[in-house]
This record gives sequence, C-alpha cells and structure tokens, in this order.
Amino acid sequence: MPLIITAGKRTSKRGVYSCVSVHRLSAIAALVLALGSHIASGGPDDAVTRDPDAFNLGVLGAEGNPTKEPSGIKIAAVHKEGPAAAGGLQEGDHIIAVGGATFPKNKDAIHAFVEFLEKASSRKGATLTLNVLRAGKHEAVKITLPFLGPHVSSCPSRCVRCEKMIDGSLAFLANLQKENGAFESKLGGTSGAVVVTSLCGLALLASGSTPEDGPYAEHIRKAMSFVTENAGKDDKKGREAGEPNWNQTNWSLGYAPIFLVSYLKKKDDPAIRKRLEEISAKIVENQERSGGWAHGPGGPNALNYLELEVMSNVCLTALGLMNQIGIKPPGEAVERAIRYVEECSDGGGGVGYSTRDGQKGMGDPGRTAGAIVALWTLGRQRHPLFGKMAAYYTMRIGDLVNGHVSPVMHCTSGGIAAHLLGPKVWAKFMQPFRLEFMAARRPDGGFSARPTEETRQLRSNTDRSLGDAWTTASYLLILQLPKGRLAF
Ligand SMILES: [Zn+2]
Repeated sequence: MPLIITAGKRTSKRGVYSCVSVHRLSAIAALVLALGSHIASGGPDDAVTRDPDAFNLGVLGAEGNPTKEPSGIKIAAVHKEGPAAAGGLQEGDHIIAVGGATFPKNKDAIHAFVEFLEKASSRKGATLTLNVLRAGKHEAVKITLPFLGPHVSSCPSRCVRCEKMIDGSLAFLANLQKENGAFESKLGGTSGAVVVTSLCGLALLASGSTPEDGPYAEHIRKAMSFVTENAGKDDKKGREAGEPNWNQTNWSLGYAPIFLVSYLKKKDDPAIRKRLEEISAKIVENQERSGGWAHGPGGPNALNYLELEVMSNVCLTALGLMNQIGIKPPGEAVERAIRYVEECSDGGGGVGYSTRDGQKGMGDPGRTAGAIVALWTLGRQRHPLFGKMAAYYTMRIGDLVNGHVSPVMHCTSGGIAAHLLGPKVWAKFMQPFRLEFMAARRPDGGFSARPTEETRQLRSNTDRSLGDAWTTASYLLILQLPKGRLAF
C-alpha cells in the first residue's frame, strides 16, 4: 500500500500538489507566514546541517536522506549528542546495509530504518553495525542504542515507551516557553506566536495538566495570558499607506479560541469568556462576502488572493467550539461559511484550496480533515457533505504527510478528524503516522519537520521555519488525542 512516499517521489497523481503548480506563489504564502519563509536550521542547535531539510532519523541522533542506487540513507547531519555521534557516524556517510542486511527495495528507506532502530532499542544493550560507504570505501560503524523498552500494537495508547517519550517531549516543549508566556515562532510575527502558543497550550492541556494542577499548570496559564492579550493584534502594517496586505490576524483569531475553549472547560473564567465573545464577533466581522475567510481583513493580500479554505476550517472550528460553551455566532455566518466549504469541493468530498479555477475540488486529505473537524465541532455530522468528506479523507489518509505548505498542520487536522471519526479511522491514520512520529522524534525530545517534494521544489519548508515549538506541539497534540482531554 503506497501510504507514504519516499523523498522526492510523488505518489499523489492529483490534488495534493495541484495548487502548487497552479499557484506557486500562493503556495508559499498559504499559512500564516509568507514573510521571509526560508529554510531555517531544523535540528537542535548543535546539529551541523549541510542539507537543512533532511529527515530526522529517530533515536539515532542524526538526519539523512533516502537513496536509490544503492538503496540506503545518506547522512546529512550528526547531532552533537546521541548514539550516532558516540559511534562515530559522520556527515556524508552513506548507509547501505545494517548488520550486512541491505535495505528493502520496495519500502520507504527512512521508515524501514526507523522501524529497525525502534525494534533494536527495545532490547537491552543493543549494538548494531551500520555498513557505510565513506569517501568511496566500505566502513563498519558500531552504534549502541539506549534501551527504551518495547512498543505495543496500540501505540501511542497504552504504551509505556510512548508515554515516556511523550513525557520527555512535554518537558522539552515547556522549556521553550518565554517569560511572557509565548512559545517561539520563527514566522508570522505576533499572529504566528499566538498560533504556536495556542497549539503549545493545547499540547500541555492534553497531557492532563490543567490551569490549576499538574506539572504544566503555570505554563498553561502563561500561554493563556499571552494568547488572550495578543489574539487578533494587527501586527502587519499591511493596509496602511497602500502597502501590500500581509495581514494574518485571522490565523490568531482562529487558533486562540481552539486553545481557550479547552482551557475554559478545565477552569471557567468570566474574563476569558468575555474576550472570546470579542474574538467571535471579530471572526464574523472578518468573514468575506463569499462566506470564506482570507488570511486577514483588508481585501486581497499581497499575492492578490482573498479566501483560502484552510482558513475557513480554522475559523469555523473556533466558532463551533465557542458555540459549545454558549458563545453563539450569528446563524447566518456559519451557514454561509459551510456553503463556502461546499463550493470548494467537487461534490465528491475532497475539499479544495479555494473556489478559484484550478483549485475548486482539488481536494487533499489534510484540508478535508480540517473541514471534518469544523463541521463536527458545529454538530453538523448529518450535513450531506460530512459523510462524503469522511469517506474521501479515510481513503486518502496516507497522503497527509505530503500536505501543502505545512504537512504538520495537515497531520494535526488529520489526527483530530481520525480521532473524531472513531477507532477504525484512528487505526488507519496511525498505520502510516506511527513511523512518521518515531522518525521525527529526536533524542533531545523535540520533533523535527520532514521534507516533501514540495519543500524540495520550493527550497522552503514552512514547518521547519516555524520551529521546534510548532512541530513538537503538533506531534504531542496528535499523540495525546486518545487521552480525550481536549474539547474535541
Ligand atoms: Zn509505543
């Protein structure tokens, strides 16, 4: 089953990248974040990264890219700490076999290798020999892996090893919080920081800490303060003096309530509730005539487009969750917004980038998952589009990791949708995602972004540029969904 691509190989014939070729520029801008998006060093600070957009290799403490002839993995970076460095693996080493066994030709080399590492590290005192080509010569590199215990078939649920991994990553994430409560965002100014901080707040709430109890109570409260204060702040000059409109505030207006509603469900607070009422009104005020939303108010953006469907998913989810705690949006706003989502689909359930020519109906699973979550939070599971979207999403679940602009965001929407749609869909989601998260998890606790064909083409990986807090919180949020501690 071609669930996951190998790097550089396109498995999706239509849909996933369609808006890249049609609207290359809007592709770059489609998240919060268009400004100055370029690849930032994605690994921990100590990584020496010649290829800044390589795959993290799980517990090894290194990054690499799959190769075809010979089948294997070329090492792009060795982290300063970790089994790879301790064993003397070097940047440029080409792993062509492990313990004399070559890589399977018909399998994703990264996944095959990570699966092997996970199994090896489930045994005490596991040493393995990596057969590498170094400067044209065959070398054997001995690696000793830490003993991390076995996984179970229901990972991450009921898995002691996954629980420990999650605990380590929560601590890593909490450590990234700044004094003012914000979590680092390398893109998007204040709007970007609100988005990332909201996500981090959710990831910490998902662990079971509340605003009052648990190891991350204070982090959650500080995140809440930052988000409440800064959601919707117009931090881009944009509309003034005829400058290009880079306004991105709809992202922060959408993400803030998604965090704050889960917060309020743990601890009610009239002041936050009042703030949410303002945010709800602002979201409705910023709705475009079509029923959809743009990155922000003020008309077409600097790339001359207005609405994008993912924005509607976020705003609708926010309105749906606020509605659940009694903050009701005007009925018409929601109806118009749902009609807009319908207009972006081709009638078959796949939701496209927008209603524009060449984008309407060019569905992809992440965007469709986002619309599923939105309709679910609004209680519209009986809407005719819902069942179609669920069927489409379930069929295309394996393409999530190739999602447009921010595959990590697609995976988060995809994980939430799968969780809502029930155990069968969750199991189908986890089947490919299991090895994705194990590959992405670094020994230091952070999760790294991975390359896709799109990030290679654009020489820009938005997930990586957004930084460690974004990727780590996203993975943590997904992995903790089975605990059922969030508002969805
Ligand atoms: Zn596990």
